[in-house]
Amino acid sequence: MAAQLIDGNALAKQIRAEVSGRTEALRAKGIQPSLAIILVGEDPASQVYTKHKVNDSQQTGLAATLERFPADMKEADLLARIEALNRDPSVHGILVQLPLPKHMDSHKVIEAISPAKDVDGFHVANAGALLVGQPGFWPCTPYGCMKMLESIGYDLRGKNAVVIGRSNIVGKPMALMLLAKDATVTVCHSRTQDLKAHTLAADVIVAAVGKRNMVTADMVKPGAVVIDVGMNRDDEGKLCGDVDFAGVSQVAGWITPVPGGVGPMTRAMLLVNTLEAAERASRG
Ligand code: NDP
Repeated sequence: MAAQLIDGNALAKQIRAEVSGRTEALRAKGIQPSLAIILVGEDPASQVYTKHKVNDSQQTGLAATLERFPADMKEADLLARIEALNRDPSVHGILVQLPLPKHMDSHKVIEAISPAKDVDGFHVANAGALLVGQPGFWPCTPYGCMKMLESIGYDLRGKNAVVIGRSNIVGKPMALMLLAKDATVTVCHSRTQDLKAHTLAADVIVAAVGKRNMVTADMVKPGAVVIDVGMNRDDEGKLCGDVDFAGVSQVAGWITPVPGGVGPMTRAMLLVNTLEAAERASRG
């Protein structure tokens, strides 16, 4: 393998240790950083994710509560619960696990969260803050990708970065974060013509599509940094990304694995955002 590995597990461990230290400092001042997680319904993947979020929080000294509600919960009741959490000064972060049941309007629900407690960074106020370069909460997955680039000391100034995928939670914020670091950014999506022509010109590729083997070795410039956000299953049911890791790692300069890449970093950045929310609240 020619490429060097960007180890998301190792970096996330380091970040969790930093969070623990900062949490300890807040607790010494009598402030217990806390995260409220809301899960509506029984989606199996969401149950696993929320369990991880609670465990990660507790292991770093953050208080986390998981509030579970039935799939037929009324949207108005969920909005009322969020409003109560917004008003509760002992709660610093609020996260509503997506997807929500179909009868609920996810946009409306996310907008009900106070931007100061929106540790997922999905509220339009936080999306807008990212757009105009103001302080806010950054969505955890692209934030984690930026930390991975930072960890290898990669200077994005003037580099060509290609983001594949334009979702509100990954692709678009990723593009804005890269742009803020002076990369020349191209965003590709399902209507992009000749994806390969774009990726071959890229110094950095972020794949956030959700399709296995979407990025193959012939699409990658030698030495490029390849960040694989995708989470898919291979024929044996094992977790894999969007990138053909075996092939691309022969060409790329740096590559993130799946598992053990962006996934653990996403989890770690939620802790950072929650802690940050508590620190900001403590500053008043
Ligand atoms: P979405 O389904 O919301 O977005 C996928 C994007 O990929 C869309 O913008 C779509 O384009 C684009 N796309 C689809 N097909 C192609 C194609 N053939 N060529 C180029 N672009 C294409 O997914 P998310 O952004 O939510 O997630 C992306 C992946 O990242 C998923 O696998 C998800 O599981 C994973 N993920 C991983 C996380 C982690 O922590 N590791 C966290 C969040 C997500 P269009 O807009 O035109 O439809």
